[in-house]
Amino acid sequence: MKCEIIAVGTELLLGNIVNSNARYLSEKLAELGIDVHYHITVGDNMSRLKEAIELSLKRSDIIITTGGLGPTDDDLTKEGVAAALGLRLVPHEDSLQKIECYFKTSNRPMPECNKKQGYIPEGALVLENNNGTAPGVMVEKEDKLVILLPGPPKEMMPMFSEQVYPCLKAKSAFMIKSKTLRVVGVGESTIQELLQHIFDEQSNPTVAPYAKDGEVHLRITAKCQDEAEANRLLKEMEARITDILLDNVYGYDDESLEYIVYKLLEKNKMTVSIAESCTGGMISGRLTNVSGVSSVFTNAIVTYSNQAKMNFLKVQENTLRSHGAVSAETAEEMAKGIRQVSGTDVGISVTGIAGPEGGTAEKPVGLFYIGIAIGEKVEAHRYFFPASREKVRWNATTRALDILRRALL
Ligand code: ATP
Repeated sequence: MKCEIIAVGTELLLGNIVNSNARYLSEKLAELGIDVHYHITVGDNMSRLKEAIELSLKRSDIIITTGGLGPTDDDLTKEGVAAALGLRLVPHEDSLQKIECYFKTSNRPMPECNKKQGYIPEGALVLENNNGTAPGVMVEKEDKLVILLPGPPKEMMPMFSEQVYPCLKAKSAFMIKSKTLRVVGVGESTIQELLQHIFDEQSNPTVAPYAKDGEVHLRITAKCQDEAEANRLLKEMEARITDILLDNVYGYDDESLEYIVYKLLEKNKMTVSIAESCTGGMISGRLTNVSGVSSVFTNAIVTYSNQAKMNFLKVQENTLRSHGAVSAETAEEMAKGIRQVSGTDVGISVTGIAGPEGGTAEKPVGLFYIGIAIGEKVEAHRYFFPASREKVRWNATTRALDILRRALL
């Protein structure tokens, strides 16, 4: 079944409001296995509205409109739909009474124009509005289904989920199920190469890669007649991808890298402390986004200057002089130092050059080291990702979390 969504409102065209209704409806329709082929936005103008509906009727089975069901002269959706379908608008007694009752209970006189909301295209079904005055409408004509929903999301969403969703579910022969594999440590182009054969041959399920702030998310989507079949297809594809990407796949759906790190620390019954330099607290910031992390994360210190590295982490002056603050040696001493002063199982450190100034030929902007100390074992990893200051710091944060994750696996 093909569907399109028509958002009605000049406010949308002027950029005064964002079309969040289309986003919500598209997400729900995808869940139902209904293909959304077009999003249209049209202003409060009768002829353009009618034209948009006529065009949609030619190419789609279901048309869902939002907005323009209010009482004022510029609320024209019902009129536009009735004209496009060649139907009259007729009074709907129950709706008229409800609107009167709404004003009575809220102790306000009912403006005459509100009566307009009680008129519906002949033969249409009324969708009750339990959160406002404008009733919704569902009208079927010659295999086409047109659904009119109010504009305010607080009215539109419950009306759709309670009254329209079950009806569309009964009509749709398909359901769509998705799963996202979250990958870190392999770039988008490498993934493209490694999974090229899967991308080439895919039909059901489909696999789509999305680059996301130093990670890649692979969304697998299956379209099936029943849930068991969808689960089977998703599982099969997940196994094929994981066989190739191995432990670079760190989590699923909404699981963040920091959440996975927390879970692994908890599972291993280990604690961590962090010494940050160029990331300035970003690693601890991300970790503390996770609720419950206090059971595994004790503290972090931002040691930006050499003096602070010596004072708080016992980094040797000689190390700083001979190798510099941005070096494997300093990163190792920082990790060892934070672990010792904090009394944790693991110490993590970051030192790097975020730029845009301060880079040299030997130590350019984007160079950073991550140190990790577990028990007596200490090591440092070197990375070079030249980018903006913000990106270098974010990448260093992600790498640090990923090194910790891999050490805990
Ligand atoms: P009402 O009964 O309030 O008059 P209506 O169905 O006539 O509702 P509109 O007048 O078109 O709806 O819009 C009312 C409000 O709903 C807008 O001011 C806006 O805040 C919100 N709204 C309308 N369309 C959208 C949309 N597509 N996405 C998000 N919000 C919207």
